[in-house]
Amino acid sequence: MRTLVYTAEIDNRFGVGKVSSRIGLSSPARLYNPTTDLLADIRAEQKSAPIHCVLVDESQFLSKEQVYALSDVVDELDIPVLCYGLRTDFRGELFSGSQYLLALSDKLVELKTICFCGRKASMVLRLDQEGRPYNEGEQVVIGGNERYVSVCRKHYKEALLKGSLQAIQGN
Ligand SMILES: [Zn+2]
Repeated sequence: MRTLVYTAEIDNRFGVGKVSSRIGLSSPARLYNPTTDLLADIRAEQKSAPIHCVLVDESQFLSKEQVYALSDVVDELDIPVLCYGLRTDFRGELFSGSQYLLALSDKLVELKTICFCGRKASMVLRLDQEGRPYNEGEQVVIGGNERYVSVCRKHYKEALLKGSLQAIQGN
């Protein structure tokens, strides 16, 4: 089975052009940025050999047009597309890719992460260098020293209110 793997050019955590899983598997990936014409790219690739699946990692960074183009890949080229990404940013706002994927996807699968309290972690806290949470600023920071922690909604609110994640973890 031939799978085309894409990841966002913005994400260079694991080196350029590679998708890695936390269990250690990795695969080379094509990079997409806001100007990438995914439908044309996939259509061109299909000419050399059949494509059985398209996988897009970091799909929260897709634009509205790119999500629509991926729905054309499913509807016109008849190739299944799997997108993996975050639902919301550290401000609790949808990413553009997530917004249109939620609207256009045939199927949604929620991968559950657990907060330190045991509840479902549905929010992402951004912590600065000193470990203080903050929810203002740019949606994407490249090369910064901030850290992201998945927490439940209740603890997301509490951490921002108290200005500290550590202060609430004992409760
Ligand atoms: Zn919690």
